Amino acid sequence: MNKRTFSALLVASALATLGGCTTQPANDTNDTQVTQQQAQSFKQATDAFIEDLWQESPSWALYEGYHKYAHILPIPDEAGRQSTLAFVEKQRARFAPFNVDSLNPNERTDYYLIKNQLDSIEWSIKKFKSHQWMPSNYNVAGGFSRIFNGDYDTLDNRLRSALKRLENVPAYYQAAIKNITVPTLEHTTLGITQNKGALSVFGESLNKQIAESGLSTEEKSQFEARLVSARDAINGYVKHLETLKTTLEKNGNARSFRIGSDLYEQKFALNIQSEYSAKQMYDKAMADKNNVLRKMAKLADQLWPKYFKNHSRPKDDNVAISELIKKISVRHVKRDDFVEEIRQQIPALEAFVKEKDLISIDPEKPLVVRATPEYMRGFAGASVSAPGPYDKKANTYYNVTPLDNMNDEQAESYLREYNHWMLQILNIHEAIPGHYTQLVYANESPSLIKAILGNGAMVEGWAVYTEIMMLEEGYGDFEKEMWLMYYKWNLRVIANTILDYSIHNLDWNKDQVLDLLMNQVFQEKAEAEGKWRRATLSQVQLTSYYSGYREIYDFREELKRKSGENFDLKQFHETFLSYGSSPVKYIKQLMRK
Ligand code: ZN
Ligand code: ZN
Repeated sequence: MNKRTFSALLVASALATLGGCTTQPANDTNDTQVTQQQAQSFKQATDAFIEDLWQESPSWALYEGYHKYAHILPIPDEAGRQSTLAFVEKQRARFAPFNVDSLNPNERTDYYLIKNQLDSIEWSIKKFKSHQWMPSNYNVAGGFSRIFNGDYDTLDNRLRSALKRLENVPAYYQAAIKNITVPTLEHTTLGITQNKGALSVFGESLNKQIAESGLSTEEKSQFEARLVSARDAINGYVKHLETLKTTLEKNGNARSFRIGSDLYEQKFALNIQSEYSAKQMYDKAMADKNNVLRKMAKLADQLWPKYFKNHSRPKDDNVAISELIKKISVRHVKRDDFVEEIRQQIPALEAFVKEKDLISIDPEKPLVVRATPEYMRGFAGASVSAPGPYDKKANTYYNVTPLDNMNDEQAESYLREYNHWMLQILNIHEAIPGHYTQLVYANESPSLIKAILGNGAMVEGWAVYTEIMMLEEGYGDFEKEMWLMYYKWNLRVIANTILDYSIHNLDWNKDQVLDLLMNQVFQEKAEAEGKWRRATLSQVQLTSYYSGYREIYDFREELKRKSGENFDLKQFHETFLSYGSSPVKYIKQLMRK
């Protein structure tokens, strides 16, 4: 235990005594003092928690830009799990003295995020037990590549911490092999592919870095020896998994990748942190799917004569909608104009938000639209990169991948997907008033806890919510084509929730998933195949977009009903975002007060 942790514990216990005073009549001076002391000790407690968290999870720390523990590679054996559980208990004790009701909203949401994180860690070890069945969990490449490619320190210093870190690689994979007692076929296959890929991190370019470094001859030869052992360990692990895979296939006794209803509900509660259960959210998605399809059928009635003069609308709604979408999608930008078109749309979105008074956006740190840097180009698409919690001064980028690596056919298909209308919805989601705007607000109530443990369903839910909010407020002039495209886009989010739930709870197979995506909600085959694969490897994550969106939208409607004519949309948006990336559940509690 370090000194800092120790003192934080002392302060926290002192606070518990003080905290009792607040319920008794006290004069203002005392109140202020107590609040200040409490704020100070809460800050100390969260700082100490984060420091312990990074020591406990050095690889995660590297991803957040914290490098103090770069030299540590924890061994995932039973002793390691026991020490993780001890970490959980230590942190619980640290926060136990705080009276949640007396914390301010910012602190309170931090408190809940920490509590939830600790519950998740414990649940993962004791109940979920993915260490026994997810061979793809084990891979040392990520952390090492952060060290080798980072520019946070001199090459020599980074190599020295990597040298220490390498020492545990053989023990790491030995523990992994021992842990895997009931693997799924899907995660075994993924583990093989990804660990083969891991070898590239320890390849030629690293040898070159070592040769060019200022490490001593002794250090260099030690490095060489440890690299040989590390490569052997990775190869040994891959070989073990390949043998395992053959046996599993032969005997047909692999564990199912479906986690079943109990674990699914628990994981949903911990990850999404919603007021709804997974089942309730699934029911909402099913109802939404039918609502949206009904609206699309109506739009098809209205749009059909405009696009098809010579043949009449097919009776089957889905056939009609599908033909119409194909026809309308041919309106799109030229491939070479893709990035520029997005760049030009941002000011237009900003102007609309301002004109309609939907939310104010502090232009202090403008969004920089750029072509996605080469090293980030895994797949075509668009994304927003926010500065990490330890690098707040950096720019916020809107990365747009140019279509350079596509042949004509691929580019045409991609441009039809991101056609004239869809591209605008994408920009609402990624930029204004979606992810970028949310980020600007989150930065205004700076909380390291929310930057690290922020709720994904709230972040994605907000971006999805803004799509329909903008259209409801008249963005796109209520053009029917815009709404049709929006509904197609929205159906994908709805379908993700339906299929993820159905696969893990209702035993859906691949054919059922493809039928839903391709025949019922107008998605392409490649998209559908990819989605099936993703759902066999993950659980709950696919529901986060819809869950966050549904909960935000329902909450807004609830407030609208309560306040009637007094409801102020702008105020709702600004208050909602003022709590940072907290779970919607807690934002609701705070706003209802
Ligand atoms: Zn075209
Ligand atoms: Zn998003």
